[in-house]
Amino acid sequence: MIGILGGTFNPIHNGHLRLAERLEQTLAFETVRFMPAAIPALKDMPNVSAEQRADMVKLAIFDHSTFQIDTRELERSGPSYSIDSLVSLRKELGDKVSISWLIGSDAFAKLNTWHRWNELLDHCHFVVVKRPHSEDLTWNAEIHSLVELHQTNDVNVLKNSASGKILIQKIATLDISSTQIREQIASKTNVSDVMPKSVINYIQQHQLYQ
Ligand code: ATP
Ligand code: MG
Repeated sequence: MIGILGGTFNPIHNGHLRLAERLEQTLAFETVRFMPAAIPALKDMPNVSAEQRADMVKLAIFDHSTFQIDTRELERSGPSYSIDSLVSLRKELGDKVSISWLIGSDAFAKLNTWHRWNELLDHCHFVVVKRPHSEDLTWNAEIHSLVELHQTNDVNVLKNSASGKILIQKIATLDISSTQIREQIASKTNVSDVMPKSVINYIQQHQLYQ
Protein backbone atom coordinates (compact mmCIF):
# COMPACT_ATOMS: atom_id res chain seq x y z
CA MET A 1 0.00 0.00 0.00
CA ILE A 2 1.63 3.23 -1.11
CA GLY A 3 0.68 6.88 -0.79
CA ILE A 4 1.40 9.62 -3.31
CA LEU A 5 1.55 13.26 -2.31
CA GLY A 6 1.55 15.39 -5.42
CA GLY A 7 2.09 19.12 -5.19
CA THR A 8 3.97 22.15 -6.38
CA PHE A 9 6.04 22.18 -3.18
CA ASN A 10 6.90 25.83 -3.72
CA PRO A 11 8.27 25.33 -1.09
CA ILE A 12 7.58 22.12 0.87
CA HIS A 13 6.53 22.84 4.49
CA ASN A 14 5.53 21.18 7.75
CA GLY A 15 1.89 21.06 6.62
CA HIS A 16 2.86 18.63 3.84
CA LEU A 17 5.09 16.63 6.18
CA ARG A 18 2.47 16.43 8.93
CA LEU A 19 -0.15 15.27 6.44
CA ALA A 20 2.13 12.49 5.16
CA GLU A 21 3.25 11.43 8.66
CA ARG A 22 -0.25 11.29 10.10
CA LEU A 23 -1.67 9.37 7.17
CA GLU A 24 1.29 7.01 7.13
CA GLN A 25 0.65 6.19 10.81
CA THR A 26 -3.13 6.01 10.59
CA LEU A 27 -3.41 4.03 7.38
CA ALA A 28 -0.12 2.10 7.58
CA PHE A 29 1.41 3.03 4.24
CA GLU A 30 4.63 1.24 3.38
CA THR A 31 5.92 4.31 1.58
CA VAL A 32 4.77 7.81 0.76
CA ARG A 33 6.12 9.21 -2.48
CA PHE A 34 6.34 12.98 -2.78
CA MET A 35 5.76 13.91 -6.41
CA PRO A 36 6.62 17.50 -7.36
CA ALA A 37 4.85 18.93 -10.40
CA ALA A 38 7.29 20.28 -12.98
CA ILE A 39 4.77 22.41 -14.84
CA PRO A 40 1.60 22.69 -12.73
CA ALA A 41 -1.42 22.41 -15.00
CA LEU A 42 -3.70 24.65 -12.95
CA LYS A 43 -1.34 27.22 -11.46
CA ASP A 44 0.94 29.95 -12.77
CA MET A 45 4.46 28.74 -13.49
CA PRO A 46 6.37 28.82 -10.19
CA ASN A 47 9.28 31.26 -10.01
CA VAL A 48 11.45 28.52 -8.53
CA SER A 49 12.62 25.74 -10.84
CA ALA A 50 11.27 22.20 -10.61
CA GLU A 51 14.78 20.98 -9.78
CA GLN A 52 15.06 23.38 -6.85
CA ARG A 53 11.59 22.50 -5.58
CA ALA A 54 12.53 18.82 -5.81
CA ASP A 55 15.83 19.52 -4.00
CA MET A 56 13.87 21.05 -1.12
CA VAL A 57 11.57 18.02 -0.99
CA LYS A 58 14.64 15.74 -0.82
CA LEU A 59 16.08 17.75 2.05
CA ALA A 60 12.78 17.77 3.95
CA ILE A 61 12.26 13.99 3.76
CA PHE A 62 15.92 13.01 4.12
CA ASP A 63 15.66 11.54 7.62
CA HIS A 64 12.33 9.77 7.11
CA SER A 65 13.19 6.38 5.64
CA THR A 66 9.72 5.53 4.34
CA PHE A 67 9.34 8.83 2.46
CA GLN A 68 10.64 8.94 -1.09
CA ILE A 69 10.81 11.48 -3.86
CA ASP A 70 9.28 10.62 -7.21
CA THR A 71 10.62 12.85 -9.96
CA ARG A 72 8.77 11.38 -12.93
CA GLU A 73 7.03 14.68 -13.66
CA LEU A 74 10.41 16.38 -14.03
CA GLU A 75 11.33 13.90 -16.71
CA ARG A 76 8.34 14.73 -18.95
CA SER A 77 7.72 17.81 -21.03
CA GLY A 78 4.45 19.73 -21.13
CA PRO A 79 1.97 20.21 -18.26
CA SER A 80 2.37 17.77 -15.36
CA TYR A 81 -0.90 15.90 -15.51
CA SER A 82 -1.49 13.54 -12.58
CA ILE A 83 -3.28 11.09 -14.85
CA ASP A 84 -0.07 10.63 -16.88
CA SER A 85 1.90 10.03 -13.67
CA LEU A 86 -0.63 7.48 -12.48
CA VAL A 87 -0.55 5.58 -15.76
CA SER A 88 3.23 5.55 -15.61
CA LEU A 89 3.19 4.45 -11.94
CA ARG A 90 0.91 1.57 -12.83
CA LYS A 91 3.37 0.49 -15.52
CA GLU A 92 6.05 0.45 -12.86
CA LEU A 93 4.11 -1.13 -9.98
CA GLY A 94 1.52 -3.26 -11.78
CA ASP A 95 -2.25 -3.37 -11.39
CA LYS A 96 -2.45 -5.02 -7.98
CA VAL A 97 -0.72 -2.57 -5.64
CA SER A 98 -2.95 -0.28 -3.62
CA ILE A 99 -2.09 3.33 -4.54
CA SER A 100 -3.64 6.23 -2.60
CA TRP A 101 -3.38 9.82 -3.73
CA LEU A 102 -3.17 11.97 -0.60
CA ILE A 103 -4.87 15.30 -1.03
CA GLY A 104 -6.01 18.35 0.94
CA SER A 105 -9.65 19.35 0.83
CA ASP A 106 -8.89 22.55 -1.13
CA ALA A 107 -7.34 20.60 -4.00
CA PHE A 108 -9.90 17.81 -3.84
CA ALA A 109 -12.78 20.28 -4.18
CA LYS A 110 -11.37 21.20 -7.60
CA LEU A 111 -10.64 17.66 -8.75
CA ASN A 112 -13.17 17.96 -11.57
CA THR A 113 -10.91 20.56 -13.22
CA TRP A 114 -8.00 18.09 -13.53
CA HIS A 115 -7.10 16.69 -16.94
CA ARG A 116 -9.12 13.47 -17.57
CA TRP A 117 -10.32 13.66 -13.98
CA ASN A 118 -12.92 10.96 -14.37
CA GLU A 119 -10.18 8.41 -15.11
CA LEU A 120 -8.13 9.12 -11.98
CA LEU A 121 -9.98 6.61 -9.79
CA ASP A 122 -9.23 3.85 -12.30
CA HIS A 123 -5.62 4.10 -11.13
CA CYS A 124 -5.70 5.21 -7.49
CA HIS A 125 -7.75 5.83 -4.37
CA PHE A 126 -8.06 9.30 -2.88
CA VAL A 127 -7.47 10.01 0.80
CA VAL A 128 -8.82 13.46 1.57
CA VAL A 129 -7.86 15.51 4.63
CA LYS A 130 -9.41 18.77 5.69
CA ARG A 131 -7.16 21.81 5.65
CA PRO A 132 -7.72 24.35 8.41
CA HIS A 133 -9.95 27.30 7.47
CA SER A 134 -11.15 25.64 4.31
CA GLU A 135 -14.85 25.52 3.72
CA ASP A 136 -14.25 23.20 0.85
CA LEU A 137 -15.88 20.08 2.17
CA THR A 138 -18.89 21.63 0.46
CA TRP A 139 -18.57 20.28 -3.04
CA ASN A 140 -19.93 21.08 -6.45
CA ALA A 141 -22.31 18.57 -8.01
CA GLU A 142 -19.61 16.60 -9.84
CA ILE A 143 -17.44 16.11 -6.77
CA HIS A 144 -20.51 15.35 -4.70
CA SER A 145 -21.61 12.50 -6.93
CA LEU A 146 -18.04 11.21 -7.24
CA VAL A 147 -17.87 10.94 -3.44
CA GLU A 148 -21.30 9.39 -3.25
CA LEU A 149 -20.26 6.70 -5.72
CA HIS A 150 -16.82 5.91 -4.33
CA GLN A 151 -16.67 6.77 -0.63
CA THR A 152 -15.60 4.19 1.93
CA ASN A 153 -14.91 4.56 5.65
CA ASP A 154 -13.01 1.32 5.86
CA VAL A 155 -9.23 1.42 5.61
CA ASN A 156 -9.17 -2.28 4.80
CA VAL A 157 -11.15 -1.68 1.64
CA LEU A 158 -8.40 0.69 0.58
CA LYS A 159 -5.72 -1.80 1.47
CA ASN A 160 -7.35 -4.72 -0.28
CA SER A 161 -8.10 -3.02 -3.57
CA ALA A 162 -5.79 -1.25 -5.99
CA SER A 163 -7.91 1.81 -6.79
CA GLY A 164 -11.37 3.32 -7.00
CA LYS A 165 -12.21 4.46 -3.45
CA ILE A 166 -12.39 7.79 -1.65
CA LEU A 167 -11.62 7.91 2.06
CA ILE A 168 -12.18 11.12 3.98
CA GLN A 169 -9.79 10.90 6.88
CA LYS A 170 -9.95 13.07 9.98
CA ILE A 171 -6.47 14.11 11.08
CA ALA A 172 -5.12 17.24 12.69
CA THR A 173 -3.59 19.31 9.89
CA LEU A 174 -1.44 22.42 10.25
CA ASP A 175 -2.50 25.87 9.13
CA ILE A 176 0.44 26.44 6.79
CA SER A 177 0.56 27.14 3.05
CA SER A 178 3.38 27.73 0.58
CA THR A 179 1.70 30.98 -0.50
CA GLN A 180 1.88 32.27 3.06
CA ILE A 181 5.52 31.16 3.38
CA ARG A 182 6.56 32.88 0.13
CA GLU A 183 5.02 36.11 1.45
CA GLN A 184 6.65 35.69 4.84
CA ILE A 185 10.10 35.18 3.35
CA ALA A 186 9.68 38.19 1.06
CA SER A 187 8.75 40.32 4.07
CA LYS A 188 11.58 38.82 6.17
CA THR A 189 9.25 37.17 8.67
CA ASN A 190 10.72 34.22 10.55
CA VAL A 191 9.59 30.89 9.10
CA SER A 192 11.51 28.53 11.38
CA ASP A 193 8.28 27.17 12.91
CA VAL A 194 6.72 26.15 9.63
CA MET A 195 9.43 24.30 7.72
CA PRO A 196 12.53 22.16 8.29
CA LYS A 197 15.81 23.92 9.00
CA SER A 198 17.47 22.21 6.01
CA VAL A 199 14.90 23.76 3.66
CA ILE A 200 15.32 27.22 5.21
CA ASN A 201 19.09 26.93 4.71
CA TYR A 202 18.59 25.95 1.07
CA ILE A 203 16.26 28.91 0.50
CA GLN A 204 18.82 31.28 2.03
CA GLN A 205 21.70 29.77 0.11
CA HIS A 206 19.90 30.11 -3.22
CA GLN A 207 18.18 33.36 -2.30
CA LEU A 208 14.73 32.10 -3.19
CA TYR A 209 11.48 34.00 -2.57
CA GLN A 210 13.35 37.19 -1.58
P1 ATP B 1 0.22 27.00 -2.49
O1 ATP B 1 -0.16 27.94 -1.39
O2 ATP B 1 1.33 27.48 -3.36
O3 ATP B 1 -0.95 26.47 -3.26
P2 ATP B 1 0.19 24.69 -0.76
O4 ATP B 1 0.67 24.97 0.61
O5 ATP B 1 -1.28 24.61 -0.99
O6 ATP B 1 0.87 25.72 -1.76
P3 ATP B 1 0.64 22.55 -2.59
O7 ATP B 1 1.98 22.13 -3.11
O8 ATP B 1 -0.27 23.31 -3.46
O9 ATP B 1 0.91 23.36 -1.23
O10 ATP B 1 -0.11 21.29 -1.98
C1 ATP B 1 0.08 19.95 -2.35
C2 ATP B 1 -0.95 19.09 -1.64
O11 ATP B 1 -0.78 19.18 -0.22
C3 ATP B 1 -2.41 19.52 -1.90
O12 ATP B 1 -3.21 18.35 -1.96
C4 ATP B 1 -2.75 20.35 -0.69
O13 ATP B 1 -4.14 20.37 -0.41
C5 ATP B 1 -1.98 19.62 0.41
N1 ATP B 1 -1.59 20.51 1.50
C6 ATP B 1 -0.81 21.59 1.43
N2 ATP B 1 -0.66 22.18 2.63
C7 ATP B 1 -1.37 21.44 3.50
C8 ATP B 1 -1.63 21.54 4.92
N3 ATP B 1 -1.14 22.53 5.65
N4 ATP B 1 -2.42 20.58 5.49
C9 ATP B 1 -2.94 19.58 4.73
N5 ATP B 1 -2.75 19.44 3.40
C10 ATP B 1 -1.97 20.35 2.79
MG1 MG C 1 -2.17 24.72 -2.86
